[in-house]
Amino acid sequence: MTENMMANVYYSPGDLRFESIPIPKVNHGDILIKVEFSSVCASDVRVFKGEKKADTGTILGHEFVGKIAAIGEEVKGFSVGDRVTVYPVVFCGTCFYCQRGHQNMCLNRKTFGYDYNGAFAEYVLVSSELVKHGNVVKVPSSLPPEEAALTEPLGCSLNGVSILNLEIGESLLIIGAGPMGLMLLSVAKCSGAGKIFVSEIDEGRRRLAEEIGADILINPTQENLVERVMAETEDLGVDAAILTVGSVNAAKDALRTLRKEGRINFFAGFPLGSELTIDPNIIHYKMIHVTASQNAPLNIFKRALMMMAEGKIDLKPLITGKFKLKDVKAVIERRIKLEGLKPIIVNSMI
Ligand SMILES: [Zn+2]
Ligand SMILES: [Zn+2]
Repeated sequence: MTENMMANVYYSPGDLRFESIPIPKVNHGDILIKVEFSSVCASDVRVFKGEKKADTGTILGHEFVGKIAAIGEEVKGFSVGDRVTVYPVVFCGTCFYCQRGHQNMCLNRKTFGYDYNGAFAEYVLVSSELVKHGNVVKVPSSLPPEEAALTEPLGCSLNGVSILNLEIGESLLIIGAGPMGLMLLSVAKCSGAGKIFVSEIDEGRRRLAEEIGADILINPTQENLVERVMAETEDLGVDAAILTVGSVNAAKDALRTLRKEGRINFFAGFPLGSELTIDPNIIHYKMIHVTASQNAPLNIFKRALMMMAEGKIDLKPLITGKFKLKDVKAVIERRIKLEGLKPIIVNSMI
C-alpha cells in the first residue's frame, strides 16, 4: 500500500494544483525529507509565469529545510531526524567547471525543484546522485529552521558580493530592494562596505533597506539616479554596483554611476529578448569591469548557512508572513504583485 502526501504540482503556466500524490519511494542511496519550511524564489515565479520551462507534473520549490524521514541503507553520515537543507544545483562533479569548484556553472547542470521534484510538498526525495555529491547539508541546531530555508538565496547573495571584490570601505550601489537586494545589502554591510546606496521604487522596501543599514535611499521615479550618486560621491561615481532588477534602463543607469575602474554585477536575469544598447566607450574609457553571478558554488552555500547560524546575518526582517502548503499558488501570485519579501511556507500546515 502506498501512502500519499499533499503537493503543489505544476501543470502549465498559471496552473499549479494542490493534489494528493504518492510519497516517493526511498531506494538504497536516497534520503527522504519531511519538509518543515520552504520559500518561494523568483525563479519559481518565472516558471509560473511561463518565462522559464518546467515539465508538467513537476513539484517546484528549492529553498527549504526539513528533517530526514527515511534513508536508504547505503547512506552514510545521516540519520533519521537530522535537520537538513539541500544545495539545489545538481552537478556532475567531473566537468571543467566542477573541477574548479564552480558547481553552479556545471556543463551538465540540472536544478533541484525543476528538473527534480522540489519542496512544495509534505515530503521531498533527494536521490542517491545528490546524496553522494554532498548536496544534502546538515543545519546547525542554533539556527531557527525557517531561516535555514533561506540558505540558497543567501548563498547567491554572498556570491554576488564576493564577485565584486569589494574592499573595506568601498561604496556600493544596489539597484532594487526586493528580497535579493535586501539580502545583498545585509551581506555588503557584513563585508565592510562603505557608503551603500539603494535605488528602489517602493517606499516600504526603501524603509526596510534603511533599517537594514543603507546609507542613501533613492527613488528613481522621483530623482535622477546618476545625478544623485555623482552628487554624493564628489562626482567620482561608486566603486561598485549590483543590479537586482532585469531592467535595461536600470542597467544603463548603473553603468553610468560607476567611477573609473568601477565594477558591476549583472545579478538579475533579464526578460527573454532583452537588448542592451550602450556606448561601449563607457566601458572602454572608464575601464569598467562587467561581471555577473548566478547561484553559488557549494562551498559558498555552506558558508551562507554558517553565517546565519553564527548570528552574523539576520534574515528575520525579510520573512513576511507564514502560509500553509496549499497557499503556494497564492504566495506566488502575491510575489507577482511584488507584495511581501520572503514569505515562509509551513509545509506541515496543510
Ligand atoms: Zn532560489
Ligand atoms: Zn559539472
